Amino acid sequence: MTFLVGEDKLFKTVFDNQIAHRKGEVEEMGLLGMLFLKLSVLSPLRYTAAKCGHRTRRRGPVSAFGQTIETKMPLNEKGVPEWCLDCIGKMAIKCPWCEQPIFIGEPITLFSPARDDFQVPENTVVYREEPLTLVGCLGVGCADTGADRAGFWLPGEDGRGQVFRVPSPLEMIFASGGAGMVIVDDVGDIKEALNPRFIPDDE
Ligand SMILES: [Zn+2]
Ligand SMILES: [Zn+2]
Repeated sequence: MTFLVGEDKLFKTVFDNQIAHRKGEVEEMGLLGMLFLKLSVLSPLRYTAAKCGHRTRRRGPVSAFGQTIETKMPLNEKGVPEWCLDCIGKMAIKCPWCEQPIFIGEPITLFSPARDDFQVPENTVVYREEPLTLVGCLGVGCADTGADRAGFWLPGEDGRGQVFRVPSPLEMIFASGGAGMVIVDDVGDIKEALNPRFIPDDE
């Protein structure tokens, strides 16, 4: 079972999110971390983002709901990012289960609340109304295992984030009739998600 996706598409969808840290922990980042943040603030806004038209750096801090991560954006075929770092930050949503941010480029789950009277928190995303299915994070308290990964949170054409669905490792196994296994090294790796290593069971 293979999922063929052009390099072009992959190129566009790979966001490299790093150095996740909460606001308030900046003081603990150490001198190098501070220096890096300073330098990235001083570096010129090299690019004009193709979709939003704002000046931006390719790599830099992205903030939402009181948290900041470091993102390196993919470049399109013209060699520029599609969105600026500020717009990427505005596309972040909250996980309905832990209420932590889900940033662009991060893996997501699609779960339904166990209780009928579940109050959907603000800034979360309903993937499907019936049965109510919400976009959640892959954090320790929110997903049983990495096998729950159902997709990635990526920019949509309308400037808002959207679910980019990939088969979860479990779905790959079901699709194969339940025989075999899928090897996943990194559930946060979109390239690997689109090119699963499926080992069929010969028996
Ligand atoms: Zn922008
Ligand atoms: Zn969560």
